[in-house]
Amino acid sequence: MSEHAASQSFTNVPCPFCGMLCDDLEVARSDAGSLKVIKNGCPKSSSGFARSVSGAKPQISGRDVELSEAIQKVSELVRAAKQPLYSGSATDVDGMRAIMALADRSGGTVDHALSAALERNLSVLQSAGWIMSTLTEVRNRADVIVIVGTDVQKMHPRFFERIVCPPESMFDTTPEKRTIVFIGEGLDTSGAVGPRIGDVITLPCPSDQIGDVVSVLRARLRDFPVSGQDVAGIAISDLESLAALLRDAHYSVLVWSPAAFDFANGHLAVHTISEIVKDLNTTTRSGGLTLGGNEGLTTASSLCSWQSGFPLRVSYATGKPDYDPAIYSVDRMVTDGEGDLLVWVASISTQLAPPETNIPTVVLGTPGLQVKRQPEVFIPVGTPGVDHVGRLIRVDSVVSLPLQNLHRSELPRVADVLQAVRATL
Ligand code: SF4
Repeated sequence: MSEHAASQSFTNVPCPFCGMLCDDLEVARSDAGSLKVIKNGCPKSSSGFARSVSGAKPQISGRDVELSEAIQKVSELVRAAKQPLYSGSATDVDGMRAIMALADRSGGTVDHALSAALERNLSVLQSAGWIMSTLTEVRNRADVIVIVGTDVQKMHPRFFERIVCPPESMFDTTPEKRTIVFIGEGLDTSGAVGPRIGDVITLPCPSDQIGDVVSVLRARLRDFPVSGQDVAGIAISDLESLAALLRDAHYSVLVWSPAAFDFANGHLAVHTISEIVKDLNTTTRSGGLTLGGNEGLTTASSLCSWQSGFPLRVSYATGKPDYDPAIYSVDRMVTDGEGDLLVWVASISTQLAPPETNIPTVVLGTPGLQVKRQPEVFIPVGTPGVDHVGRLIRVDSVVSLPLQNLHRSELPRVADVLQAVRATL
């Protein structure tokens, strides 16, 4: 009999390991506490749930200490800091609330490790507005899905299975077949298969020329003339065919992740895509769908907005929330030698390492977190949805999902640790 054969089984488990928050997993727990995804997993979720966190202890400068001593040390560091920086911010709703409250109390700056990508979207939302869809709308209504410059299969391994090619959907308006278009370089198209999929069109081009391609697509959609035979290696005639496909669609969706637009003026590509969606809505229906939101990014962004009135990159140094996405980038502040304490929260994956810095650093991290320098204080914390209950907000920002406690460990919540620190200030 296998280790998991006699174990407890959890059903309808939401997965915290990417922004999709699939909520249909089945996970078995052995008597020894190890977890195994037994249904509806993907490589990312399987390794995330299976990872062992046993034996991790709070540390001060590499020395094992009790949790209370570590919390006391963090309190001393926060009290002494004149410009504390709070980032990473990979946690759940309660954890992010605690980060915001501590930053408010200590005059700190709040950011998230992946906010540079988010900023490409926010700058467009703030300056021009957009028309967005949701995962459920796409699953049930889209007849043309255009994936722009983003390796969705790698980012969200079950996106195609759950959203693009589901065996069933909610409404009888759902098209029998949908056309999938990939624009970009080296994109994994293998998920676009099955009875729901009609044509699959690939338009390869270098990633950093996505902006040029969508600009020409928009121009031809509006019947503006374009010189030359191709753009970024894509024939203009192919983009004209795509424009016609979009015009004739009942509900097209343009999908991208801002993290994939990490090139000069990547936000302009987001802007052009958003404007294409708006143009299409003058004669038919279309929506944007932005993906990513991993490491609790959507949760941190939403929570920062409703707590402070502003998106991420907020400072409480003046005693009230002050928003500036350029000045209060914690990455930039660390690089430029600003700040005198870094409090880094990474409770979900082991890959979210703090930036290299010589200022004192406190890490609240999942055990196994890859850190380049030993922090002054390390406190191992639980992962929401694995070690404790919690709540995360899905990448399309319209649903918050309650997470189960699968009892992998007794590690504390980020919220509990930071609330304890705040109570001592
Ligand atoms: S696609 Fe994302 S949310 Fe879904 S099971 Fe995989 S890692 Fe989890």
